[in-house]
Amino acid sequence: MRATVMHAAGDVRVEDVPDAKIEQPNDAVIRITRACICGSDLWPYKSLDPAEGARIMGHEAIGVVEEIGGDVTNLRKGDLVVMPFASSDGTCEFCRDGLQTECVHRGFFGVGAEGFGGAQAEALRIPNADGTLYVLAADSDEALMPSLLTLADVMGTGHHAAVASNVEPGKSVAVVGDGAVGLCGVIAAKRLGAEQIIVLGRHADRTDLARELGATDVVAERGEEAVARVRELTGGFGAHSVLECVGLDASTQTAVEVARPGGAVGRVGVPQEETMAGGRGSFYANVTIAGGPAPVRAYIEELLPDILDGAIEPGRVFDRTVDLGGVPDGYRAMNEREALKVMVRP
Ligand SMILES: [Zn+2]
Repeated sequence: MRATVMHAAGDVRVEDVPDAKIEQPNDAVIRITRACICGSDLWPYKSLDPAEGARIMGHEAIGVVEEIGGDVTNLRKGDLVVMPFASSDGTCEFCRDGLQTECVHRGFFGVGAEGFGGAQAEALRIPNADGTLYVLAADSDEALMPSLLTLADVMGTGHHAAVASNVEPGKSVAVVGDGAVGLCGVIAAKRLGAEQIIVLGRHADRTDLARELGATDVVAERGEEAVARVRELTGGFGAHSVLECVGLDASTQTAVEVARPGGAVGRVGVPQEETMAGGRGSFYANVTIAGGPAPVRAYIEELLPDILDGAIEPGRVFDRTVDLGGVPDGYRAMNEREALKVMVRP
């Protein structure tokens, strides 16, 4: 089968790899019908050391179940499924608490040797298939596929940032980052009833889309100027809830500083440093720091009805579609900010 293999920073190739097949009785194999490139895929695209070994990329997909192992009970061949970015058993105490990304059998897709295979491919083996995959209605509307695909990561992740930062009706929210997760964070904040939603971003096409999705204000400044601007927009104190959707030191520092005293920061940008910026500031302002890998598997149930009835349209974050052969150029386009988020139809 063909799959997207990243060999080193900037070196993405579509290659023949061994076919995905059942290895454990709780596995399923899905044929990928939609996948996409994630902002977090750009971190290895910028920095992967060839010594770390080549990896099959991709952790977001919709697919059709092709094979199931002997212990799989919730799935049938032919089921249309959403594949969250992490595998989970669905039965351990963390899964039962709705925190599937801390499952005792957790594993991530598309991260190389320490995880499972990748979804930017023709097919993929899904460990713990019963707990991991979410079955969609077989007659799901083609036009909704982009939005349904966001349930695999970005919409659930934006929602997690909103939940972790305690977004509530009538309150103020700042969203740090205008990538796909930041934009989904805007959707999530609006959905949860926030009154003021300030998006911090510098790309006019993206912040324009943010306004269409519910942002009330745009702050294009960075650093201290951005902090001053957000405080000005929030009566001098900062936002009740801050969604950190980037993961860099500078963005984290800004996120902490735009939170009002007693507010909260929900971190979903994958941290690129071991220590967290803004630690001292968050202490003196009694700011709660929360977040982590989003349990998107738990959120599908809650978000799916709003996608089906058109209340939210997170699929609008996709602005380009490629076939498998077009994936390497898709990485280039996202890395150069020419594309916001690229959908893959293998
Ligand atoms: Zn579990």
